[in-house]
Amino acid sequence: MPENIQLLSPRLANQIAAGEVVERPASVIKELLENSLDAGATRLEIDLDAGGVKRIMVRDNGKGIEKEDLHLALARHATSKIHALEDLEAVATLGFRGEALASISSVARLTMTSSRNESGKGWVVTAEGREMETQLAPAAHPRGTTVEVRDLFFNTPARRKFLRTEKTEFNRVDETIKRLALARFDVSFSLRHNGKGVHNLRGGTSRAEMERRVAQLCGPAFMQNALHIEMERSGLRLWGWVAEPAFSRSQADLQFFYVNGRAIRDRVVSHAVRRAFADVLYHGRHPAFVLYLELDPAAVDVNVHPTKHEVRFRDSRLVHDFLFGSLHRALADVRPGAREEDDE
Ligand code: ADP
Ligand code: MG
Repeated sequence: MPENIQLLSPRLANQIAAGEVVERPASVIKELLENSLDAGATRLEIDLDAGGVKRIMVRDNGKGIEKEDLHLALARHATSKIHALEDLEAVATLGFRGEALASISSVARLTMTSSRNESGKGWVVTAEGREMETQLAPAAHPRGTTVEVRDLFFNTPARRKFLRTEKTEFNRVDETIKRLALARFDVSFSLRHNGKGVHNLRGGTSRAEMERRVAQLCGPAFMQNALHIEMERSGLRLWGWVAEPAFSRSQADLQFFYVNGRAIRDRVVSHAVRRAFADVLYHGRHPAFVLYLELDPAAVDVNVHPTKHEVRFRDSRLVHDFLFGSLHRALADVRPGAREEDDE
């Protein structure tokens, strides 16, 4: 081991950073889709081979990237989303660290093609995990951006070893796409895997359109057993669908919870939900739900960690009691003995 201090090469620095954000194909997809949504896309096409390990392609119809910015987009700490520390307070985009593309391109072969206008003329930038230099060339592309990521971890065998079977990796990707598709009913999503269509979800925000998407993603049986809920109190709003206890699951695999549009996992939330279902579910069964909590952005901190889906509520007691109360009330009609209780 050399004992003198040396600067890490740009590629090695990026590969180390990649350990934080790029764990598997699903994490690559998440970063790419979030970038597309940040760019205002309303249509997202995802095409994968071999669970995404061989190839991931994400195409969007967002605002595109200027030729001059294409190579910068791949550089570490390069972002168009914040310019000063104060911007962090009000960050409205899903990304802001400027790390994802640099990280991905350090552990895979990445090409990004983009155009800012409808002329059909754009530019393509290629980075092949070498010393992070990039190549730029003209390319045909409609307004928007296409990112293709091939051979994930081709140059980091230790990471590749942690990948699971194609099926498992695909399931994680599918889960990631579901979570985003349930957050953005206004956006169309299509998914192809190994040349076959998996999802084709049309964008639309009417109640019927949303319920059709929930049925497509959570299964028609979920929707048939779902109670639609909508409650509002003290500046908090909860809406969405919870399955009647008859549709409980042996695993906690149909639980989607969003806070101000972001998918989260949170102990306060889980506890409130578990308690609300406690007397209507058998031991070991799990409720199924797709729920959206909306509250004043100042009352919640969502940037605790970009990949961990955590939040911190300013008043977690209030949130807990509101969630518990709303769900408990929604389930009142299906709770055994609820009528007697009401009579008291
Ligand atoms: P971050 O999202 O944190 O800013 P990324 O590495 O994910 O960092 O992306 C770097 C920059 O590249 C973004 O800030 C954005 O300007 C640009 N970019 C990436 N993907 C897209 C896209 N699909 N459409 C338009 N711009 C994009
Ligand atoms: Mg990003």
